[in-house]
Amino acid sequence: MSKIYDVIILGAGPGGLAAGLYSGRARLSTCIIEKGQDGGQIAITDSIENYPGQIVEGESGPSLIKRMTEQAEKFGCERVRDTIKSVELGGKIKKLVGTNGSYEGKTVILATGAYPRPIGCKGEQEFLGKGVSYCATCDANFFEELPVYVVGGGDAAVEEAMYLTKFASSVTLIHRRNELRAAKSIQERAFKNEKLHFMWDSVVEELGGDDILQEMKVKNVKTGEITEIRASEEDGMFGLFGFIGRIPNTDLLKDCGLTMDDRGYIPTDDDMKTNIPGVFAAGDVRVKSLRQVVTAAADGAIAATQAEKYINENP
Ligand code: NAP
Repeated sequence: MSKIYDVIILGAGPGGLAAGLYSGRARLSTCIIEKGQDGGQIAITDSIENYPGQIVEGESGPSLIKRMTEQAEKFGCERVRDTIKSVELGGKIKKLVGTNGSYEGKTVILATGAYPRPIGCKGEQEFLGKGVSYCATCDANFFEELPVYVVGGGDAAVEEAMYLTKFASSVTLIHRRNELRAAKSIQERAFKNEKLHFMWDSVVEELGGDDILQEMKVKNVKTGEITEIRASEEDGMFGLFGFIGRIPNTDLLKDCGLTMDDRGYIPTDDDMKTNIPGVFAAGDVRVKSLRQVVTAAADGAIAATQAEKYINENP
């Protein structure tokens, strides 16, 4: 018979690893399952400046996550590399079936994260972290006094574009229609911001540059006209931020009785409890207002503490 863990954590981003740390320290038998590399979205973040206490010169997402992984393992978390294909979460013992094996636990913490919807232009992957970003809070500093372009027209794009005006020399919002989706109150502030400019009815088609983002082709969807944007010699590069929605990693969880909102995020209460007893969610996969390393770590700590409580109350 396979081992029944106290806690199975699905996903080894900051939420999952923090849950593992707390669960391991509580002497619960814990297994963290991850299909790819640890870290989730911060694994592709070049520099981390906004995690409290994070002041090590040259700290990158991968170096921070490496220490988080080591810390969770130090307290006894077992690690499994596997892609989970199906889950049964309703019973007292939860079952996860992967490509390499199946795993049983008394509780499950879902920390599968979310990923930014890609802009969808040519060269996007190539310039990720070299001019292309999906996180203004993380990367605005790196575009101090440089021109920045933002794709999107919803609340996130407009709010983040306004935030970026505090750093960039100018911010141009590129939107595929000629009116914003963002709330009117947000629009009013945006239209008053002198550093914020708009390219309407436009989509980014192609990116280019010599290892960093220096060129971009933007197409007017009504006229078909292509505008070529080039970094000035003095600037050397520009930034491109995409805010066209995020996609939670919850496809796997669609038919297991778990409540999700209409965009696929998992609602929880303040204790990270989902609608299924013994099943918790932590990090970006939750319905929440701020998706950051610090909030994911906090979720993980709460979820693990509540998992321990659940186990004690349901022997
Ligand atoms: P959103 O409201 O879904 O807006 C996405 C934007 O991206 C839309 O303007 C959409 O264009 C555009 N878009 C989508 N796919 C695109 C594509 N393939 N190419 C180009 N543009 C594309 O997403 P969000 O702004 O991330 O907000 C998500 C949720 O969080 C919303 O409920 C929002 O209210 C909330 N939120 C609230 C605040 C706040 O209240 N301060 C801040 C951030 C987010 P169209 O308009 O043409 O569809």
